Amino acid sequence: MKIKPIYTILASSFLLIATTLSLGCNGGQNGVGADGKRIVKIAYLPITHALPVFETKEELEAADDELQVELVKYGSWPELMDALNTGRVDGASVLVEMAMLARQNGIGVSAVALGHKDGNVVISSETIASPNDLKGKTFAIPHRQSSHHILLNEALKRVGLTIKDVDVVELAPPEMPSALASGQIDGYCVAEPFGAKAVLLNVGKPLLTSEELWEDSLCCALVLNDKFIEKRPEDAKKFVASYKAAGKSLSKERAKEIGKKYLEQDDAVLETSLQWISYDDLDVTPEIYASLVERVKEYGLSENPPSYDDFVKGSL
Ligand code: ZN
Repeated sequence: MKIKPIYTILASSFLLIATTLSLGCNGGQNGVGADGKRIVKIAYLPITHALPVFETKEELEAADDELQVELVKYGSWPELMDALNTGRVDGASVLVEMAMLARQNGIGVSAVALGHKDGNVVISSETIASPNDLKGKTFAIPHRQSSHHILLNEALKRVGLTIKDVDVVELAPPEMPSALASGQIDGYCVAEPFGAKAVLLNVGKPLLTSEELWEDSLCCALVLNDKFIEKRPEDAKKFVASYKAAGKSLSKERAKEIGKKYLEQDDAVLETSLQWISYDDLDVTPEIYASLVERVKEYGLSENPPSYDDFVKGSL
């Protein structure tokens, strides 16, 4: 398979500049803030897929809870994974396949909940009428270890093509709409709102939704560092319960409000984007994980992904 990063061509400042930024940071040493409250530090990328993390922070803050969330923003998935793997953060909302690979490589990280269900779209230029037309074309995904890569494979499989028929490139999410507009790529699949942006900018159209390609598809997961779970089991439990409850209570209106605050996107982009995603059931069940493992193996993301028991801490 041909995957060649084209970050250098596009000179992505998004990727190259470390954009670590704390929002509402009051974290201190040993997980205790200056005000004496306990802190859980969570890494994220500014995408709609991380909305339940933002809502959890908002709800714990509003309740003046003894446990508070500190958000740490990253500019790319590799940077975020590095922070998670080295324990600079307690957890992250991250592409589940990247965390699975880390686990497979012996790093102590565990999935405790989903980030969302569905919520991805295959975007193409107007000239692409069906996945058939992607043959010989250039298609961007954010990372080889992603559900976006799986969804591209699913779209091609429908018309009897494989990944070998397409020139696949890895690109940082915010670069994708402009790369499509300039003709550098012919389509892409990436976390929202960067699909909706192309639609609103009139530079691309939704070719297929993740729902059409893979029902109840997984993508991001809430992943915690095992050291954090071992050291602070009660905080881990409380955080995960608050997170799942936040996902359940997240109405479209509230999601839009939170999206505006944390992602700085306008109403039209969020409205388009949020119609494709759900947050109400964030449990990682054995069935849903099995549907992911099957695809991870089938499409060559990994030959030996971690088992459910090894990677998922569903009881938290
Ligand atoms: Zn996602």
